Order: sequence, then C-alpha cells, then structure tokens
Amino acid sequence: MTYDVINPATEKVVRSIELASEEQTDAAIARAAKAFETWRAVTPADRGRLLRRFADAVDADLEHLAALEVENAGHTIGNARWEAGNVRDVLTYYSAAPERLLGQQIPVAGGIDITFQEPLGVVGVIVPWNFPMPIAGWGFAPALAAGNTVVLKPAELTPLTAIRLGELALEAGLPADVFQVIPGAGTVVGQRFVTHPAVRKVVFTGSTKVGKQIMAGCADQVKRVTLELGGKSANVIFADADLEKAAAQAPYGVFDNAGQDCCARSRILVERKVHDRFLELLEPAVKAFKVGDPADPATEMGPLISRTQLDRVASYVENPAFQGTAPQGPGYWFPPTVLDHDVRDEIFGPVVSVIPFEDEADALRIANDSEYGLSGSIWTRDVGRALRVSRGVEAGNLSVNSNSSVRYSTPFGGYKQSGLGRELGPDALAAFTETKNIFISTED
Ligand code: NAD
Repeated sequence: MTYDVINPATEKVVRSIELASEEQTDAAIARAAKAFETWRAVTPADRGRLLRRFADAVDADLEHLAALEVENAGHTIGNARWEAGNVRDVLTYYSAAPERLLGQQIPVAGGIDITFQEPLGVVGVIVPWNFPMPIAGWGFAPALAAGNTVVLKPAELTPLTAIRLGELALEAGLPADVFQVIPGAGTVVGQRFVTHPAVRKVVFTGSTKVGKQIMAGCADQVKRVTLELGGKSANVIFADADLEKAAAQAPYGVFDNAGQDCCARSRILVERKVHDRFLELLEPAVKAFKVGDPADPATEMGPLISRTQLDRVASYVENPAFQGTAPQGPGYWFPPTVLDHDVRDEIFGPVVSVIPFEDEADALRIANDSEYGLSGSIWTRDVGRALRVSRGVEAGNLSVNSNSSVRYSTPFGGYKQSGLGRELGPDALAAFTETKNIFISTED
C-alpha cells in the first residue's frame, strides 16, 4: 500500500510512500532485537562517538532536512531549521550519556551492593505530524544512548524527514538495524509496537485518545510506556506585568506552527483591570502576524497540516473577536483568530481565547480547570507571585515572563491527561533503562 504525501501549502503530491505491512513490521522488530545483542555491547565511548557522528551528519544535512519539512509539513523555514538543529543538539547532548550512565554503590551488611542501568531492548517510538523531527529525536537519541535499538513510526502525513534521519544514521556509521524508520499506519505499525513482545517500551506522542489506547494495550505485557499527549495551556497575565511585551509575544505563544503545538498557550487569562488595554495591544499584533509561503524567511505562520485539520479548526470559530489574515486559494490556510470565550477542547490550530480573571486565586482556578496540564506562562513583575502561581498551576512546563517551554537540557512532559513520564533533560536515560541491583557477599 502507498500513501501520497501532500504539500499543505499547495495541496500538491510531494511523494508517494510505501506503507509497511504487519509482516514487514514484525521483520523489522526481529532485526532490531538481533541488533540489540551487539549494540548494547558497543563500548560506551564508541556509542557516544557514533551518536556525535550522527549529530554531525544531521548538521551537514540541515538545509535539506529543513526544506523537506517546509514541503511536507508547511513549517516556516525558520522553524524547520530550528527543528533540524534540535535533532542535532539532542543527539549531541545524549552522546555524552553512555559514559555517564552511572550506578550506585550502596552500603550494606556482609558485602557490597551495586546498581547498573541496563538497556531495555527494542524501543518503539510513535511520532505525530506536528513536530516530526524534534519529537522523533527526543525518543530515539536517549534510547540509543542507553544501549537500546529503536524502531520509529512517523505519522502518515509527515514521514519524509524521519526517513531521511534513518538514512543519515546509516551514513554516520550506526550499525544496520540499530535505528529503523518504518512508515506506516498507526493501526498497523504503531499497534504492532504495542502488541509485539520483543518491543519492550513504547514512546508515544499524539492525541490523548490514542494515548489511552496505547497505555491500555501496553498493560497486557506490563510494557513500559512514555506518553506525551495534548494540552490546553494558560498564559496568565497580571496587571503589574510588562503588558506591551506580554501582548507582543502572546501571538507567538499560540500561533507558532499554526497553533499545532501541544504547548500552545491557547487560553490567555488577563487580570480584569488591564483586560481592555491588553486587547487593544493584542489586536494589532494579531493583525500584523505574517501568514503565507512557509519557504519565505519573513513568514511567521504557514498552513495547517491537512484539510481535516482545517475543517476541525474552522468548526470552533463562529463569532471571533478579531482575526488576522491568511492567503486564499490552494493550501490549508486559517487566519490567526481571537475568541472572547473559553473553549475546553484542544483546537490544535491558530485560535486563542482571551478570558478575564479577578485575582490570583481566580487565575489558578481557571488555569487548572482543564483535564490537561502540559505547559503555561505567568507574566508579572512580582517574583513571589510568579513563584506562587508557577507552583500552583498543575502543569509540567511553566515559564515566567516568557512563552518558551522546550530546552533539550531540561525535563519536558505533562500532568494529568497531558501525559505520563518526562522526556529530555538529565534524567531521560532513566526512562530507557532498568535498574539492576547486585549484592556481592564478602564473607568467607
Ligand atoms: P494521533 O494520536 O492521531 O497520532 C499520533 C501517532 O500515533 C501517529 O503516528 C499515528 O499514526 C499513530 N497512531 C494512531 N492510531 C494508533 C493506534 N491505534 N496505535 C498506535 N499508533 C497509532 O495524533 P496526531 O493527530 O498525529 O497529533 C495531534 C495530537 O498530538 C494533538 O492532540 C497534540 O496535542 C498531540 N501532541 C502532543 C505532544 C506532546 O508532547 N504532549 C506533542 C505533539 C502532539
């Protein structure tokens, strides 16, 4: 079976991709299980060296990878370059990990007690279409560093950069079958990662609905699972904040990647006494947001990923408070849009609600009134309040006087139905290893 990959800015077919069958998936998993026997035995220094070579190969191919993502996903060229660079940086960061995968020596009676962090085996990584490159890298880089082999399934809509990353791994010298990219349907390839006994862990990023099915499926084999799911994050703006800066940056906090970002600050909560002033500042910023050809470096927002996504986003917008502009004609375009009422669903498009609040307690009540808990922002000049509110918001990634959530060196993940476990940062290796405890008697 084949799948036509569409350029969402033009609706033209970019390439036709062969989708793997269940038999082909099983064969790839069997090869990955075989490769694990040798990959885990590669010395830590050599494993690190190979990952650095992989990072160098990504860096050398950065412009090509970025162009592929512009064409396949409609990402702006600036974003796409950052995304390819993020894969390089995540590989470089975790290339230092094999030689730092330390255990403990624990004082006990009658002998010596030591622990080892051992790889799991084959890890299955399931990737969504919204950030095809970074989300793939956050899974495969630490998994490989810890000595696992990886089978990776890109989203049906966006397989091109993942396929290229698989080629680059081989060119960089990673042994065959250590990192395999298997384009295919979620219900075939992704589902097989869940049911195949040789896959010891599933890393899933995508919708909360499918995430729940994956978690339930993994329970059957007590399979390890990391879930990164949806979000409906609040951008909380207090009256004492730098209002000009908060209003100038709010559009980027939600419209980046056309709002198809699990960390999108899609609910702006504004203290009532500055609510009107904030809207006066926000409106020109939204109307000036540059939507158009993603290959143009001046463009700030491209199209949505698909017709389905466009229809879904449009279904949430009836009487917008105000909107920016978007191109007409072919492509899945939707203008940046501001609503004056709350929407509880994750829209996953360039739509933001602006909601007034009375005081700190009210802001926390509204921010936490969600099944999700991925990210959020707090804008205030009061340090005590910034910390109180940050501690009070039930979410995994908060920023103060900033809307940025992701750094490869810091942990990323969600509270509540936004996910399970953490990616990135210094502790990611724990999610790809088992702790083994060994007691050695020193008695005669
Ligand atoms: P999706 O859940 O439909 O698909 C995600 C991936 O899972 C795709 O590769 C798909 O093929 C696969 N899949 C689908 N059904 C499956 C099944 N039954 N078994 C195994 N795999 C299956 O989500 P999507 O539409 O691709 O992505 C959008 C959603 O992802 C949004 O809700 C968004 O919030 C979420 N997301 C979350 C994060 C995060 O880090 N928390 C990041 C990106 C996207």
